[in-house]
This record gives sequence, structure tokens and C-alpha cells, in this order.
Amino acid sequence: MSVVAAEVYSFADLERWFETTAGIEPPLRLAVCGDPVAHSASPPMHNAALAELGIDVRYTRLHLRPEDLSPAFRLLRIIPFVGVNCTIPHKLAALELVDVVDASARRAGGVNTVKVGSDGRLTGHSTDGPGFSRAVRESFDVRLNEVRVGVLGAGGGAGRAIAMQCAFEGSPRMSLINRTVEKVTPLADELQKEFPQSTVSVVSFDQAAVETQLAECDLIVNCTALGMKAGDPAPIPAEVIESRHIIYDTIYTAARTPLMLAADEAGARSENGFSMLLHQGALSFEIWFEREAPVEVMRSALKAVARK
Ligand code: NAP
Repeated sequence: MSVVAAEVYSFADLERWFETTAGIEPPLRLAVCGDPVAHSASPPMHNAALAELGIDVRYTRLHLRPEDLSPAFRLLRIIPFVGVNCTIPHKLAALELVDVVDASARRAGGVNTVKVGSDGRLTGHSTDGPGFSRAVRESFDVRLNEVRVGVLGAGGGAGRAIAMQCAFEGSPRMSLINRTVEKVTPLADELQKEFPQSTVSVVSFDQAAVETQLAECDLIVNCTALGMKAGDPAPIPAEVIESRHIIYDTIYTAARTPLMLAADEAGARSENGFSMLLHQGALSFEIWFEREAPVEVMRSALKAVARK
């Protein structure tokens, strides 16, 4: 009889992986590593895809504290795992722990996908930016090179990954908007140096300055944490949104976020971060298995989690 897998495993479990997971079929060889990690919707999404394609491994959650990450990465090579996803707070640290940093991870400034090679070498990728790009195309039928982009919260991890992806794909203009302006100026310098064809400006959340910037943008992306907690205000008021704007809120924990409600008020189209979550996962799957991911199966599995 097959043993039922736990919802979350610890570093101590990973150290004794074959004993801890004995009898679990198919074997657990993929995971999301985070602290906290219990909330992650990645296991049902990936397990649905693995089952659909008849791939005989399964995906779980690893609760790793920051000090566990380096020894855990050594164990991933030995067991061996197929790969892992890294989430908060491990994306940056993982950059230093992999053997090869893919260009996507370098651009994003962090690793969200690790692939364990047949030689045990770890390659770090980031699918956040490319997943965002696919999500915007799916939601609004536009490509990033066709839009000028305002990134709210450009100083955070998601903001950097998205701003870099936009510039990489040829967005003609980027307005980097951040509460703490100093945090975003190094990114602006880097963007300007690497992608001189894009115009980059940096402002704080001052309403007049934001309004001036957004008048020069087509796509507005929320990468701040505002909207994750009940009662949060929208990061920008409806008055600075124009009906021609398209708005992508990376937050996926609410069907209609405060920014989306402000967009409704302004008559603008908007979407939440569900599709980015889906596509970054599908791209991780494609990195691990070098085949197309069953996106619709993954979408249904994620929707089922969201309904719970
Ligand atoms: P992070 O690195 O901690 O960055 C947080 C950002 O939010 C910073 O720019 C910060 O500004 C800003 N911020 C926080 N509180 C604020 C406030 N009260 N007012 C204005 N700005 C505020 O976090 P992250 O990992 O980039 O995640 C950011 C968001 O992206 C989260 O909502 C997350 O759900 C979302 N995300 C979604 C996906 C997806 O697949 N859909 C993937 C990754 C992330 P300062 O620099 O001034 O502190």
C-alpha cells in the first residue's frame, strides 16, 4: 500500500529523505523551498501536470530556514532531485549556491527554478519575468515591446524581474515607481546601461509625479505588497488611471485586488497575478522536463486551490 505524503517536509526530513519518504509512490523528487512554505499552491499545480503526462515523480514543499539552504542544495544533488522552486526568502541566496546562473536569473537578480543536471550540477533560472510576459500576452493580447510600462514597487524582487523582462523584450519606456527611491536607482542605472534603447525614469509615490509618469505609460504593473492584506489601499488612486491603461496586479491572493477596483472605477482593463503564477510554474516544468507543460491542466489545478 502506498504511503501518503506529508504536506510539508523539513530540512531534517531531507537529511533522511529515503527513510522519511519510504513507500511514497511516485517518489518525491521536486519541491518548492521557502520559509514559510505551507501556503504554496505549487504542489497541486505541478502534481496535476506530472500525473497528466505520466511522469513518475511528485512535487512537495520543503520548509527550509535560510541557514538550511546551502546544505539542502548539496542534498538535492545526491538524492537526486529533478529540481526545486525557490520562493521567499531564498531567491537571492540561491544565486550564490547554484553552479550555473542562467541569463534569466541574472536579469531577475534571483533564482526561482533550480534544475539538477545528470552530472549533479545545479543550474539556476528565473521564470518570473518570462511568466509575467506570457501572462500579459494572454490577458491583454499585447507583447512587452508594444507597451510603455509603469512598474509600481520596482524596488522589490518581482519589480526587478518584471522591469528587466520588459527592457529585455524591448519595451520603449519604463517608469520605475517605488516608495523608497534609493532602492530603485541601481536598477535604473543597470537598465539604462544594458538596454540603452529604453527610456527609464524613477519616481516615488508622490501623486503628481506618478500621474505625469503614467500619462506616458500603457501598461501599469503592481509589484508592491499592497493588496495582499485585507483593508490595504490601492497603491495608486483611481484618479491617476486612464481608461486606456491596462493594469496587471501581480497579487494573486484576491480575485479583485484594490488596484483592480481602482481600475474598474477608471474604466480600465485589469487582471490579477493568477496567470503569472501559472505561467512561471509552466515554464519551470518546461525547464525540468524539456517538454511543453500541460498548461490547461495546471490552470484547473490552481483554480481548484483558489476555490478552497
Ligand atoms: P519584496 O521584494 O519584498 O518587494 C516589496 C515591494 O513592495 C517593494 O518595492 C516595497 O517598497 C513595496 N511596498 C511594500 N509595502 C508598501 C507600501 N505600504 N507602500 C508602497 N510600497 C510598498 O516582495 P516581492 O517578492 O517583490 O513581491 C511583491 C509582490 O509581487 C507581492 O504582492 C507578491 O504576491 C507578488 N508576486 C507575484 C508573483 C506571481 O507569480 N503572481 C510572483 C512574485 C511576486 P520599498 O522598496 O519602498 O520597501
